[in-house]
Order: sequence, then structure tokens, then C-alpha cells
Amino acid sequence: MLDAIKELGDYVKEKEKLSDVEIFIENPPFSETEGRLICLNFKKLEGKYDYISCHAEDITENKLTKCLYTESVAQKTKTFSLNIGKTNVESTVGKIERWFNNHKDENELIESIYNAFINQKANIISDLKGALSSGRYIITIKIINNQEKFLGEIEEIQRLFKRDNIHQLYQRKFGVDIESKGTGTCFLCNNNAEVYGFASPFGFYTVDKRGFSPYFEQKDTWKQLPICFDCAVSLRLGMKKFIDRHNSLSFRFIDGVKNNKKIWIRCYIIPKFIFVGAGERQKKIEYL
Ligand SMILES: [Zn+2]
Repeated sequence: MLDAIKELGDYVKEKEKLSDVEIFIENPPFSETEGRLICLNFKKLEGKYDYISCHAEDITENKLTKCLYTESVAQKTKTFSLNIGKTNVESTVGKIERWFNNHKDENELIESIYNAFINQKANIISDLKGALSSGRYIITIKIINNQEKFLGEIEEIQRLFKRDNIHQLYQRKFGVDIESKGTGTCFLCNNNAEVYGFASPFGFYTVDKRGFSPYFEQKDTWKQLPICFDCAVSLRLGMKKFIDRHNSLSFRFIDGVKNNKKIWIRCYIIPKFIFVGAGERQKKIEYL
């Protein structure tokens, strides 16, 4: 099944000619026309940044890339661009603050915006509560220094974004930070390369409970399912930019009820191609 997802991801990579930043950008859980982008504006004044205002604008795919938007559940790969609603202003502002706090020692620009963010946090929360209505929003940061830019357009910020996403393929927190990578044969392409332990979009095995894999150590996860960087990216693209975009390929049903709460199971229909030729594959995928 993973090889079928990888094949879909290879197709997306080839067709969309994605850059090494775009491969990690995701789509919000609503259509671009359904939502608005709310920008916190920081302007450089007398050598340091200051928060000046917030405003709303339309969302486009191009802007999602400039925002470095990702819907990842993994804390490490979240950025300063997140979903925000009228009811979760404080918690979302807290998550953005955490991102700045985690990265402020690595870059002067981040440190300057972090300081302004902390100084003006009460105003930011109050402005956001005034600006948000009942619709759907993504919040992001813009900087103004001669010209206006999304923070994610700055090359150094993109470098940190890529680094955090790559780390996610082999670093996890199971009480303590665990790193799982090594040199081996990739399960998907058979190439001998650096392979990662947390690159699969599905958990086929558990690494945080006893009894499932005797004597197994989390740091050795890469030996259980070794996946190289290229295949990890293809798996991610296959899931995020193909299967998740086609409503007919996933559905969910109620598995039971526990404490008056419905337990949902998500199922995927993964198309697997028996045609080997690239031309045939392209035709079939486009038919889907
Ligand atoms: Zn591989």
C-alpha cells in the first residue's frame, strides 16, 4: 500500500514541479474562497520591529506558500501560520508565541518580532477579536521594511521551515527526545541511503507501548520501516496533495460510542496501478 501512495506522490512531484519548500506546504481544511487570511503587521521603526496593525485579505495558493502554511499535527513543524477562529484567539496566539520563542535564538529578525509580539500581545489579542467574525481564517505574519513581505518569504525563515520538517521524519518526543535514523536500504525504492524511522504517514506498529515489539527501542524504529528522504516526501505528497484532495478516496464511519462520544474510523481507498509504463500511469491517475 505504501508503494501505491509513493507512486501517487511521485506523480504529484513530477506534475506540479514543486520546490523544496512547496513539498511541505499543505492546504487548509477549507477552500480558499471559503476563508480569509488575517495578517499581523510588524513594521521596522528605528532599527527594530513593532506591531502596528492587523488586516484581512483573500487566500490564494501562492500566499499559502509564502505563509509556510502547514496543517501538521506535529508541534515541531507548525509555523506562525495557523488556523484561527473567534473562539480560540488566545490559544492560537499562544502557539505562535511558542514558535517564536523556540526559534528566536537562531535569527535576529525572529528575535526582534518576538520582542514586539510579547510587548504588544494584549493589543494583538484585542485587535484579532475585533477583526474576526464567524468565518474561517488563517493567521500569519507580515513584515514591513521598505516593502511589505510575508515572514515566510524570507530565505532564512524558509531554511528553518525545511529543517524542522526534515527533522520530523526522524525526531519524536516520547517523554524524551528520540532520534531514529541510520544508513540502510529504503523499504520503498531499495536504494542504500540515509533512512528515517518516522517517515510513514500511517502507524503500522507502535513504538511507545510495551509488548508490541519485544526489545524494540524507539530510536531503532528506522530498522523496522526504513524510508529515505525522497520516498518520505513522495509519501507525504501522495497523502496530502492527492488522496486528501480527492473526496472519493477517503471516508469515515462510526466504529462505536464511548462515554457518549462517537468514535470515528477513517478509511482510505488507495488506487494501486498494475500498469508499469509511466504514460499509462499518468493516464490512469488523470482519469481518477
Ligand atoms: Zn526510498
